[in-house]
Amino acid sequence: MKVLFVASECAPFIKTGGLADVIGAVPKALAAQGVAARVLMPLYPALQKTAKTGEVVWRSKQLHGGAARVIAVTSAGIDLLLLDAPHLFDRSGGIYIDEAGKDWEDNALRFAALSQVGAEIAQGGIKAWVPDVVHAHDWQAGLVPAYLRQSGKAAPPCVLTIHNIAFQGNFAPELMKTLGLKPSLYTQDGVEFWGQLGFLKAAIAYSDKVTTVSPTYAREIMEPEFGMGFEGLLTARAADVSGILNGIDLEVWNPETDTDLKAPYSSRKLKPKEKNRAALLKRFGLTTPVDAPLFCVVTRLTTQKGVDLLLEALPTLVGRGARLALLGSGDRALEAAYIAAAERYKGQVGVIIGYDEPLSHLMQGGSDAILIPSRFEPCGLTQLYGLRYGTIPVVARTGGLADTVIDANEAAVVAGCSTGVQFAPVTAPALSHAINRTCDLFTDRKLWGGMVRRAMRHPVGWETSAQAYHDIYVALGKV
Ligand code: ADP
Repeated sequence: MKVLFVASECAPFIKTGGLADVIGAVPKALAAQGVAARVLMPLYPALQKTAKTGEVVWRSKQLHGGAARVIAVTSAGIDLLLLDAPHLFDRSGGIYIDEAGKDWEDNALRFAALSQVGAEIAQGGIKAWVPDVVHAHDWQAGLVPAYLRQSGKAAPPCVLTIHNIAFQGNFAPELMKTLGLKPSLYTQDGVEFWGQLGFLKAAIAYSDKVTTVSPTYAREIMEPEFGMGFEGLLTARAADVSGILNGIDLEVWNPETDTDLKAPYSSRKLKPKEKNRAALLKRFGLTTPVDAPLFCVVTRLTTQKGVDLLLEALPTLVGRGARLALLGSGDRALEAAYIAAAERYKGQVGVIIGYDEPLSHLMQGGSDAILIPSRFEPCGLTQLYGLRYGTIPVVARTGGLADTVIDANEAAVVAGCSTGVQFAPVTAPALSHAINRTCDLFTDRKLWGGMVRRAMRHPVGWETSAQAYHDIYVALGKV
């Protein structure tokens, strides 16, 4: 079976968040299920070198303002189809935002182009490789099923995965014509979303199946609190909506072989983790805590991630003699607040503003616990890395965090099955309470060690979920 993935980012080539990790990992996991997946994505400058050895498999003289082609190349074990459209993707700055931090003005055009090429390939644009199913990811690929629908020609079934419903791709309806969308699609059952042209809306309306990245988030987005305007439509389509938990790439995230660590370790040989801890304390300018954990945070700094609540809980954390190492970037006010906190709590709170993949590995390898106080979290990956690295996740009870971490309540401790700490509601006092609970658990070395080893053995790979995607593709093929 052949499946065309359409997505805007893919690790290890280009990444702004969890979407990239997932796109980089699922095709490899699907291969074990007999699925040949190819990833159609833009050829950003970061991919120029990768594209060099590829083969041109599709061309267009005119794709929204310039010539374009698709280059097929296999790299890092992933079969890529790179959309080479320099007028849309060959520019410095971020992949969604310019150097000043503002959305690119032509984002609608850029990702409509990606979607349009996805639709063309789905309908035989590359003769030697015609997919059986198209799998669109997030709003950037949202117009794929819309273009397929309006073509009126035979098309393979389409699956949409929503990685974060907060990112919707809503644009002025006047763009319909520019993007080559027929006016008849602009209806409540089609691409119209609260008076705008909605890319994610189009995908939810026209895909045969909609998945999201955890069972709890699949339920949550049918409620007004989390649905962000889509709760009605998703509820109406509930029979076609499911939650498939994300996994992680067990080769990339492996404490036994991770070259970004100072010392490799395993659940049987935990001692070397201390070397990573010492390195991390040094890197963040922290003094060694006595009988208290080193917490870490690796995240985009946005209100979604609840990092403002953690600022309020810092007095509790340092009051317990614990330490915090934070790596993140994003909202300028939050960045400034964390830099100020590092000044105020010198030696106890260390902050590095930026994006640093190798350091994120060392943080998982060297910390005792990872804090994830998200207000909503479709799945979350850093708690899964935490489990794999024996870095106890302390998480808000929402979305995928609720589905992947077993809270160390009394019953779970007695049963010997806890792998972390959960808290609710998502408030600063509840977070402070969770930090206190974690510090208490940490002082019981035997209990903590048991929890660490259990966390490391908790299954976090892709096997089960790849099977679930495979089953969806097969079921669609039979319709
Ligand atoms: P989201 O996709 O909402 O940002 P996830 O938890 O699903 O959240 O995925 C975030 C991914 O990005 C993880 O792989 C995490 O390690 C990584 N990440 C986030 N911020 C940073 C950073 N500042 N430096 C390095 N990696 C980061």
